[in-house]
Amino acid sequence: QWDHDRGDLKSAIRTIPDYPKPGILFRDITTLLGDARAFRRAIDELVQPWCGAKIDKVAGMEARGFILGGAVAHQLSAGFVPIRKKGKLPHTKVSIAYSLEYGLDEMEIHQDAVIAGEKVILVDDLVATGGTAVGAVSLLKKIGADVVAACFVIDLPDLGGADKIRELGVPVRTLVSFP
Ligand code: AMP
Repeated sequence: QWDHDRGDLKSAIRTIPDYPKPGILFRDITTLLGDARAFRRAIDELVQPWCGAKIDKVAGMEARGFILGGAVAHQLSAGFVPIRKKGKLPHTKVSIAYSLEYGLDEMEIHQDAVIAGEKVILVDDLVATGGTAVGAVSLLKKIGADVVAACFVIDLPDLGGADKIRELGVPVRTLVSFP
């Protein structure tokens, strides 16, 4: 029997205060991933709106987006596209600088990771300021993807990231929220 408020998912997420910097409440999904029932439920709920749809690819951001995005891709019978931190991808790539809730970084995607017009869903564990996801959406659009949605287990609504993604015309799905 599912908890319709998703309190079971929320309670599977561990909170670590002052990590990686003072003042940050780090929402740690390793506890959710290690809980077979919670992990399955998170993936089932992330894919639910697209079960009958033709999704070509799922893109995931390093590193927690790889774990969730890989499982989502498998469930949708879609391909998987890694978006990685600078310097990790071996082939011709496109790069973008982006800001995090706690720092600055650069991420990359292979130029040939999608065929122009392919329908892609973006997956990550958490949306905070939206800097990472907005950067990822730009990378996907640059290589010709049709970004049909961005999905996250966790929303930090006070930081406004989900709204920034919606402003790009990309629908956002989040499962639990920590105001
Ligand atoms: P942002 O770009 O600000 O939306 O940050 C999202 C990215 O940073 C995601 O890949 C998260 O994994 C990570 N992140 C940001 N803030 C937190 C937080 N409070 N707890 C856990 N992960 C976070």
